[in-house]
Amino acid sequence: MPTTETTRFAPSPTGFLHLGHAYSALFCRDAAGPGGRFLLRLDDIDTERCRPEFEAAILDDLAWLGLAWEQPVDRQTWHLAEYAAALAVLEASGVVYPCFCSRKGIAAEIARMPSAPHGPDGALYPGTCRALDPGERADRLAAGLPYALRLDVAEAARRGGPLTWTDHAAGRQTARPELLGDVVLGRKEGQTGYHLSVVVDDYRQGVTVVTRGRDLLASTHIHRLLQALLGIDPPVYRHHPLVLDGAGIRLAKRADSVSIRAFREAGLSPAEVRALAGAAPKGSG
Ligand code: GLU
Repeated sequence: MPTTETTRFAPSPTGFLHLGHAYSALFCRDAAGPGGRFLLRLDDIDTERCRPEFEAAILDDLAWLGLAWEQPVDRQTWHLAEYAAALAVLEASGVVYPCFCSRKGIAAEIARMPSAPHGPDGALYPGTCRALDPGERADRLAAGLPYALRLDVAEAARRGGPLTWTDHAAGRQTARPELLGDVVLGRKEGQTGYHLSVVVDDYRQGVTVVTRGRDLLASTHIHRLLQALLGIDPPVYRHHPLVLDGAGIRLAKRADSVSIRAFREAGLSPAEVRALAGAAPKGSG
């Protein structure tokens, strides 16, 4: 039986696509299966870093690679009200707290701690504002100090109870939402953060298989908890290997030398770039 899944490729238009994105997009298309739905979503919520010229280049490069997606292209900035509504649900259920810390303040706090909690991507938020005296918190709110909204992950996990999610290759996984600590759900600038937005998006778009790089594996654990708190059924997840450069380092957006643009300008064909992108990763997701 042909697979008929709904998948989405969701790049953030903060740079040109490189070989890693090409691999990810092709992987995503394959995961939908021959009769499946392959959606394209521009994760453009971070308006400070996203640029219209990168959006145009992404669409152009993907079409050049031979990918065809269902129209219309979706974009996160069309759905801010839905994210805000989801955040309000979490706030009302008491699993979110205001965080007044600056990046610098957090770094200083971590440096002061004898053993700061760490996750797969480095030090976690040390929980400074979770432990804030309620009077002090009220004073800061009344004074109009800017704040982010963070998930109280321990409390949320307690309410969510034991959770599992399905990895397409490895099967049932126990959710470990604590891996990333008290993540930001609402940013100081007003938009919701990555985690909450994609959980709402993938549900809203009816995505049945979420494909993404292994660098986002820890995020899936927190997404599972957010789904439980919001009463959302989880999709299946496929985490693909990352495309590495010659030195074994993961390609970053600024890797201009391996941007699809650069290969196009150098005269490579779409088939050649697809082969380069597909040949690089080891293992399968
Ligand atoms: N927009 C995210 C990124 O560019 C991917 C979304 C996801 O797979 O969760 O990294």
